Amino acid sequence: MNKLKNKTALVTGSTSGIGLEILKKLAQNGANVVVNGFGDQNQIETIVEEIKSKYNVKAIYAPSDLSDTLQVQKLILDTVSITGTIDILVNNAGIQYVAPIQEFPIEKWESIISINLSAAFKTIKFAMPYLLKNDWGRIINIASAHGLVASPFKSAYVAAKHGLLGLTKTIALEVAESNVTCNAVCPGYVKTPLVEKQISEQAKSYNIPESKVVNDILLKSQPNKRFIEAEDLAELVYFLCTQSAKGMTGQIISMDGGWTAH
Ligand code: NAD
Repeated sequence: MNKLKNKTALVTGSTSGIGLEILKKLAQNGANVVVNGFGDQNQIETIVEEIKSKYNVKAIYAPSDLSDTLQVQKLILDTVSITGTIDILVNNAGIQYVAPIQEFPIEKWESIISINLSAAFKTIKFAMPYLLKNDWGRIINIASAHGLVASPFKSAYVAAKHGLLGLTKTIALEVAESNVTCNAVCPGYVKTPLVEKQISEQAKSYNIPESKVVNDILLKSQPNKRFIEAEDLAELVYFLCTQSAKGMTGQIISMDGGWTAH
């Protein structure tokens, strides 16, 4: 407990799903946190208040839309406004769209590349001067099993996640002599709003029950046939933030129920 005391962490896309669990885990271990992402204003305020009172840390909501460069820059400035710096950056925000290439709208390609890949480049670029000045930092990019292998109909998502792994390795090498590490985590399927949407849409388009989409389509590639728990991913991200992980950088770490062992 409190291994992250006095550290300030930004988790992008932390109003929901995996990002929210990571945010809570870092706060539970003493980090001040910045909540980012979209959602119901009252629910977001409740998240911020609960984190402050339960974990006795500072917490703010920074609503920046990551598809806009100026707003990404503002997000880092908002983060720095808490304690004067940023120590931990978790690039987690992500969106999905599923369609064959012939029908894949260009604007969906552009928004997925922008949010799932370019935003991470920008947050890292704007945060790096602080991390290097402190000679300590942790950058964790939430990629996907789809960073390592592909599935049909997910061209933009798979391309962005593969790119995110390349970005992770490049940044790790650029700052390897400092105490700033940069790693990526590759989850298999986790039951969050992002995946629930895919389940209901695919059930509708193939006219099959949702349970069939889960078992025959999504978990088909996941040998353990169980969803990954967001809490377990949060534990992994927390470990990467600790001193014990100081020798890990440029690594691609899977938690995918055996998916990429195929
Ligand atoms: P989610 O839909 O529950 O959460 C996504 C978050 O990103 C939300 O907070 C949303 O508001 C935020 N967001 C979306 N667009 C944004 C924008 N333009 N600016 C700022 N915030 C924005 O999704 P999740 O399943 O928790 O996914 C989190 C990450 O994990 C994503 O990068 C996703 O690709 C990755 N991932 C998810 C799974 C899965 O099965 N759920 C598997 C592998 C990887």
